[in-house]
Amino acid sequence: MKLARFERGNGPEVGAVIEGEKVVPLNALATDMTDLISNWDEVKGETERLAKAGEGAVALSDVHLLAPVARPGKVFAIGLNYADHIEESGMETPKEQVWFTKAVTSIHAPFDPVQIPKISQLVDYEVEMVAIVGKGGKHISAADAPAHVFGYCVGNDVTERAWQFKTPQWCLGKSFDTHGPIGPWITTADEVGDPHKLGLRCFVNGEERQNSNTEHLVFNVWDQLTELSKAMTLEPGDVIFTGTPGGIGAVMQPAQFLKEGDAVRCEIDRLGVIEARFEPEV
Ligand code: ZN
Repeated sequence: MKLARFERGNGPEVGAVIEGEKVVPLNALATDMTDLISNWDEVKGETERLAKAGEGAVALSDVHLLAPVARPGKVFAIGLNYADHIEESGMETPKEQVWFTKAVTSIHAPFDPVQIPKISQLVDYEVEMVAIVGKGGKHISAADAPAHVFGYCVGNDVTERAWQFKTPQWCLGKSFDTHGPIGPWITTADEVGDPHKLGLRCFVNGEERQNSNTEHLVFNVWDQLTELSKAMTLEPGDVIFTGTPGGIGAVMQPAQFLKEGDAVRCEIDRLGVIEARFEPEV
């Protein structure tokens, strides 16, 4: 099942994407994705029935897709989690998982323009598989972790590199407004199958910059849920960026940061595509 948030002039709605090109509103079940995720065990059957019936389906081309989770309780992201990215960054493979937060306000719609900040313009892309927490919990074991992931989507962990590295903490450089586009929708875990066998790619103005596979994650999704849930209770709708492969603009020779008008397309097998044009903050 593919679940989207969208609007068509009457405020945000939740829907099931069918046939890759239409969305069936689920207003009878939920108006908020986090509610749908929280109540999934009860509403899954009815969601499937409505999606199959297709009543009230609207063409995706006639709606504005929104971030699938509007305001998650937490947005965590792991750094240095693909071997080629660790090597290009001149770092050692970490023994411990390196976590930072992105502000929840950085979460952004999948096709809306992304800002090049006024204050500093060393803006870079990072295609990442994003896991959306389903059933919450603490001290989740690796064996239990799959049962706690609701689904997956595509993310771009947009980063302002000067602010990332001007202090030891990366949080601010990762948290600018609009710098967390996710989408185009959530593909539920049962439909994705093995999340550690998905090709992921990033293109800037059609030029391939990143091309890898989630099988190369250093710490896989189950390791990540286990580690995070040792410290904090994971909740439905929490957003986890699972790391980016090699090919970021900052380490190209010479470095290539994103400029006004650049189009960045991120795609992951089975999860879809998000694409944003970069524009100056006004
Ligand atoms: Zn990242």
